[in-house]
Amino acid sequence: MKLYNTMSRKVEDFKPIEDHKVGMYCCGPTVYNFAHIGNLRTYVFEDILRRTLEKNGYKVKHVMNITDVGHLTGDGDDGEDKLEKRSRETGKSVWDIAAFYTEAFMKDTASLNIKRPTVICKATDHIKEMIDLVKSLEDGGHTYISGGNVYFSIDTIDDYGKLAKLNLDELKAGARISVDDNKRNPKDFVLWFTNGKFKDQVMVWPSPWGVGYPGWHIECSAMSMKYLGRHFDIHCGGIDAIPVHHTNEIAQSEAATGEKPWVNYWCHGEFLINDKGKMSKSSGEFLTLSVLVDHGYDPLDYRYFCLTGHYRSQLKFSYEALDHAKSARQSLNDKVASLKKEASPASSFSEKACGYRQEFFDAMSNDLHAPQALAVLWSMLKDEEVPDDQKLALLLDMDSILGLNLDKVEVKKEESIPQNVLDLVNERAEAKKNKDFKRSDEIRDRLASMGWSVKDTPQGPVVAKIL
Ligand code: AMP
Ligand code: ZN
Repeated sequence: MKLYNTMSRKVEDFKPIEDHKVGMYCCGPTVYNFAHIGNLRTYVFEDILRRTLEKNGYKVKHVMNITDVGHLTGDGDDGEDKLEKRSRETGKSVWDIAAFYTEAFMKDTASLNIKRPTVICKATDHIKEMIDLVKSLEDGGHTYISGGNVYFSIDTIDDYGKLAKLNLDELKAGARISVDDNKRNPKDFVLWFTNGKFKDQVMVWPSPWGVGYPGWHIECSAMSMKYLGRHFDIHCGGIDAIPVHHTNEIAQSEAATGEKPWVNYWCHGEFLINDKGKMSKSSGEFLTLSVLVDHGYDPLDYRYFCLTGHYRSQLKFSYEALDHAKSARQSLNDKVASLKKEASPASSFSEKACGYRQEFFDAMSNDLHAPQALAVLWSMLKDEEVPDDQKLALLLDMDSILGLNLDKVEVKKEESIPQNVLDLVNERAEAKKNKDFKRSDEIRDRLASMGWSVKDTPQGPVVAKIL
């Protein structure tokens, strides 16, 4: 299997730390609002990655956090906690807000057929692990206290910014004014906020540095290492996490363990965009999955739409594009239904069928080329040399990665023929036997006006609903 690694900017052969096993950490949602469909694109990409790894024989431990504290509205430790802000705006408690939007997120991801992560960890349940990590950074001389907050000093390490390939000299020259005067270097970041910064913060915990709350970045380092160890295989997120969040996670994790690299493969999903650019919550208008459902789409139509773009390319949302995805998925479901009616999935395959299978999984295993894999699927379906039972088996196999629930597609039941239609058919047969063709034609027209066709065959008349 091959994966693009943001760290090297290259597609690399994937080699796990432990044979047949993969540890994968995905930055989860900040639960102060509904996820928008852009956020959900990133989780669909991570699900496709996990399924492709599993298909390649790896046992994947997939860890995802829920950020319910510490994520500020500004990336430079400025602004206020997103949950506290929402709480003030709505009059609801931060805990209620977190619980409500966590549930909404889990519902959205389940309806997109995203596999539930092996571990889902809430930041507020891991404050001790975060404090321990900050303590170890303090012991290693990587921190300073200023204005009551504990900061990570990026000048204590020699490779800060390597993921984003930040040019620190240029940045220093550009950043004349830091948003936070307490920082020695504008790129330093907060590990632990004390009460000093936001006096009315509700979510606070005692710590060696005073009552306060963790910075956003330390959450992901502490929780990923708790569940995946000091060194693990894959870390995912959206590309917006590269310059600050993931950069800071790497700095503090490698400083704490003293080992490099902390993570072997960094995988990032590109943005979903609309006419105005990146879909984002702060820009005001954003689309949620339930808005799409209200407009008559199935969440899996959106999943199919996500599969039509490569995860490292921007994908432009429009209802027209979603309509195409919807009708493609409908055709696929219809095809599966008719194949299921005619055949049971094959267990042995022709060379041709094996070729399609290979091509499909090669495309997915080559840095998740889903659009190419979909094209292979459609060619296979159109190929008359592949028998129906093999087509059905191949489709179900391919769907273990696509996740379009093809196994759940039901065969449409034949509509039962009403008695009055059957009576007319018999009357027509009788009229034909008596060579009363005028009457038999009349009855045929009557049946047609009722929506039924009748065809004479050597085995007798065959009745069918006119579609
Ligand atoms: P958040 O809940 O804001 O922390 O974001 C959750 C995930 O969605 C993160 O991995 C972001 O990088 C990602 N994300 C945010 N905006 C978009 C977008 N327009 N398209 C794709 N992913 C996004
Ligand atoms: Zn994170």
